[in-house]
Amino acid sequence: MSGDPRTVLHDVFGFPDFRGRQAEIVEHVTGGGSGLVLMPTGGGKSLCYQVPALCRPGLGVVVSPLIALMEDQVAALRQQGVAAAALHSGLDEEERGRVSRDLANGRLKLLYVSPERLALEGTAERLARRDLALFAVDEAHCISAWGHNFRPEYRALTMLAERFPEVPRVALTATADARTVDDIRERLSLTDAPVFRGSFDRPNIRIEVAARDNATAQIAAFMDEADDGRGAGIIYCPSRAETERTAARLKKEGFDALHYHAGMEASDRRAAERRFSSGDPVVMAATIAFGMGIDRPDVRWVAHLSLPGGPEAWYQEIGRAGRDGAPARAMLLYGAEDIAVARRRIAESPAADTQKRLDHERLDRLVAIVESATCRRRLLLRCFGDDLEKDCGNCDACLRPPRLVDATEAARKLLSAVHRTGGRFGLGHVVDVLRGNRTEKVGSFGHDGLSVFGIGRDVADGAWKNIARHLLARGALEMAGDGKFPIYQATEAARPILKGAQPVLLQEAALRDAARAPRRQR
Ligand code: ADP
Ligand code: ZN
Repeated sequence: MSGDPRTVLHDVFGFPDFRGRQAEIVEHVTGGGSGLVLMPTGGGKSLCYQVPALCRPGLGVVVSPLIALMEDQVAALRQQGVAAAALHSGLDEEERGRVSRDLANGRLKLLYVSPERLALEGTAERLARRDLALFAVDEAHCISAWGHNFRPEYRALTMLAERFPEVPRVALTATADARTVDDIRERLSLTDAPVFRGSFDRPNIRIEVAARDNATAQIAAFMDEADDGRGAGIIYCPSRAETERTAARLKKEGFDALHYHAGMEASDRRAAERRFSSGDPVVMAATIAFGMGIDRPDVRWVAHLSLPGGPEAWYQEIGRAGRDGAPARAMLLYGAEDIAVARRRIAESPAADTQKRLDHERLDRLVAIVESATCRRRLLLRCFGDDLEKDCGNCDACLRPPRLVDATEAARKLLSAVHRTGGRFGLGHVVDVLRGNRTEKVGSFGHDGLSVFGIGRDVADGAWKNIARHLLARGALEMAGDGKFPIYQATEAARPILKGAQPVLLQEAALRDAARAPRRQR
């Protein structure tokens, strides 16, 4: 089968038109060009290599990191009448034999292959004997240690350019941070090839962020609003145990809930994936191990129970919602602990200092977005080099613009109390001191004698928590200690705030209890 891209698009895939930059990319690759394609999850990357592979003579070879992803794509292509197959470690002897024969006989048009298979000398040799239409490297960020999903086996792909210089290479990814992009181009010898950057905007996904307060109730309310009862939803959980707890709880409430994490048996994972892909209304409580290669178009919502790994990871994860273009929603819940835990994880990791600096930067960008009082989508898309001309109108900051109030005075009180108590205590104790609670601990340390004792009676516990989180996010406070009993310490960045040189503006809602108390007193 070979021919004109538009005809192939109609006849094989049944779509009337290309989307976004697909037409341009398909034309370039069909003409024998190489390139890097940057598009969000759900942006339509697959057609960018599938159509050219079908239009060009020879076999198209697609490198893909996940067996489930390969199998789904192959099954879909076969249904559309394309001679496709997959070669990976999950095949038994017989299946592998059949694929090998089809390959040798020139019966295949598209071959999906895992990077470790492709690296085997035998595989490369067999491919070298065939006429090749192109190489597509899907999830190309996996080749880079800068990216958020590095896979060492991808490094073998650097040989493609040397070994098959005549064959076009298309790399595709939804990650677009500049360093990862440079790294991909370098390693796949694409430095002279064009970069096709699609728009990363997914305007149908409503983005909301909230301080985690009572996660169970918050998620329940969100699901109520986001779900029409027909689509699916994903809850990303911070741990494997949490996925199981969350699913169990939802089941008790009558939802068809599943859980998924990398610690499960492969067959159980596969069963959960199948169940999710079935089209039934299900809720999946999962770690980030779930999602790559899941192509269910009617995922109506994605929720995060804690801070994701960075803006790119977050966007990729919420991008699994609303692939059908219909309204979809994303909700992110986070707390101060998340920021502190993430910082500590970076600090204590064995990574090189340059890597740590990048990781801190990535976290800073994420924190800036979740703490923002202005359009979140604009900030998020800026991480992908997309500049929105105006606010999106479909994020919580746009829909319910927070009113900002000056909380500088309260912030200074909090920082002073942390300082006066010696930077050796958790937030609970510091708040007790501020609020003038004569607890046993306050007494035993003599903290009721401090000048800061009782100076914060007018601010409620919850509001102190929000102020502390904001100061943590700004880096004016940091958490130390063993994680179980975190202690708060003031940093250099606290100085300008204490001196009154830098104001602290907080959302009114975060201080609501705080604002009410003094008014009542008056
Ligand atoms: P990505 O790999 O970028 O995450 P996919 O290639 O899986 O995205 O495409 C996402 C969805 O959009 C799929 O359901 C696909 O069939 C659909 N799609 C892609 N391109 C088009 C198009 N030109 N017209 C209609 N639907 C499309
Ligand atoms: Zn917005």
